[in-house]
This record gives sequence, structure tokens and C-alpha cells, in this order.
Amino acid sequence: MAYSYDNENIFARILRGEIPNDTVLETEHSLAFHDINPQAPVHVLVIPKGPYVTYDHFAGTASSGEIVDFTRAVGMVCAQMEVTPGAGNAGYRIIANNGSDAVQEVPHLHVHVLGGRLLGRMLPVFA
Ligand code: 5GP
Repeated sequence: MAYSYDNENIFARILRGEIPNDTVLETEHSLAFHDINPQAPVHVLVIPKGPYVTYDHFAGTASSGEIVDFTRAVGMVCAQMEVTPGAGNAGYRIIANNGSDAVQEVPHLHVHVLGGRLLGRMLPVFA
């Protein structure tokens, strides 16, 4: 799949500093910030700094360094937000919406880290 990246998407603009964000963590290749419309007490978005549209785009074309950095950034955010299971923390969910069936709104890869309340089942049960 060949992806074309929209340089004007909102997260590209955040990365260029054109739009402010409430940063949680920044690493060499990744940025994490609070979601503007949180769905849980903890709702942080983690994005790679590179121009990747979806998870498969990133996994298939990013460098090993970017992939390691991003993976560790997600883990560090979970620890920093105190949602890692155990030691009094109750856990978290990570979600990446990719494409129209998943209702991806922003065409720059992002992982949602959600926690701080009981999150319920992953998806509604189909009748
Ligand atoms: P998606 O539906 O693409 O998986 O999620 C996009 C997320 O980006 C939504 O949860 C939405 O609230 C968040 N979002 C959209 N625009 C902004 C923004 O300008 N700043 C921040 N921090 N989050 C945003």
C-alpha cells in the first residue's frame, strides 16, 4: 500500500509548532500529548514525528530506531501516567484507529493511551 501523507493534517501542524499541545513526553522520534477531547481521565496520544499515516505504514517503512523509540515512548507514557497494571494501578488500553472503517480522523499515526477508569469491553458485542 502506497500512502500519501497530508502535510497539513492537525498533528503535522502540532509537530511544526503551529498549534499548541499539552506535551506529556518528547523523545527523539516521538511526541505524546493530552487528547483535546479526553474519553477517560487518562487520554494521551502518542505519535511518531515522521510522516506516517497508519500503523501498517509505520511498521512497514519506518526505521528500526523510530520503531523502537515509538514503542518505548508508549510504554513510558503508561508509566508516567501511572496506569501500568499493578502497584495500585488498574491498567490501560491502547488503540490505533486506521482508515475509514476504524473512523480515523487524523491521517497521522497516533496511539491512544486510555486509563483511569473502568474501560469496559473492547468493542460493542454484535447482535
Ligand atoms: P482518531 O479518531 O483519528 O483515532 O483520533 C483523533 C484524536 O485526535 C481524537 O481523539 C481527537 O480528540 C484528537 N484531536 C483532534 N484534534 C486535536 C488537537 O488539535 N489537539 C489534540 N491534543 N488532540 C486533537
